[in-house]
Amino acid sequence: MFLQRFDPVSSTYTYLLACDRTKQAVLIDPVLEQRERDLALVAELGATVRWVLDTHVHADHVTGAAALKASLPEGPPTAVGMACEAAGYDRPLLDGDELPFGDEVLAVIATPGHTPGSMTFHWRDRLFTGDALLIGGCGRTDFQQGDAGQLYDAITGRLFTLPGETLVYPGHDYRGRRVSCIEEERTTNPRLAGRSRGDFIALMAALDLPRPRLIDLAVPANKQAGSLPQAV
Ligand code: FE
Repeated sequence: MFLQRFDPVSSTYTYLLACDRTKQAVLIDPVLEQRERDLALVAELGATVRWVLDTHVHADHVTGAAALKASLPEGPPTAVGMACEAAGYDRPLLDGDELPFGDEVLAVIATPGHTPGSMTFHWRDRLFTGDALLIGGCGRTDFQQGDAGQLYDAITGRLFTLPGETLVYPGHDYRGRRVSCIEEERTTNPRLAGRSRGDFIALMAALDLPRPRLIDLAVPANKQAGSLPQAV
């Protein structure tokens, strides 16, 4: 079972994957403000959440990971890439880790560059790329210890080498596109197609993007899996 949900405020996609037989499930990139939606979805499906995952420490929204863990009766472990240095998660993920849920397994692929701890999750024929590879784009590399060379190496070396029909489900899309595939990104992504590593680094350095509105709130909260600072 596979569901994709959208948060219109941050343009974030949240994914629920579940084993059809056991109803054991994984949530990827939940948004704090959408926790009631996600809890209702899980209850409706009769799912047992085994893992609540984030692809990285987000700068544009607060994750729902800690809130979902606290609200779900099974209290599932939260996990994010080890290099995110996010102490509030239960499990630091490394490249090659495999997370079981029922008869299914999700594999972890390190795709650093947008942030050092950015991970892509691979399940069946699909990838959940977070902000590493976006549809017709990629994550920015100008804050959170971003590194354009690392991102180029991760995308071209780890993702573009997968079969072309592998589906790409991004962490965000700002134009309503829900899915792409490796072949499409390899051949048409304007940031990457036909570009050398040096071209890509120069392009990323010249983007001059505005600072995310929520970064000063979101990054510290997300290092704690989305626990907001105590009200004073
Ligand atoms: Fe991001």
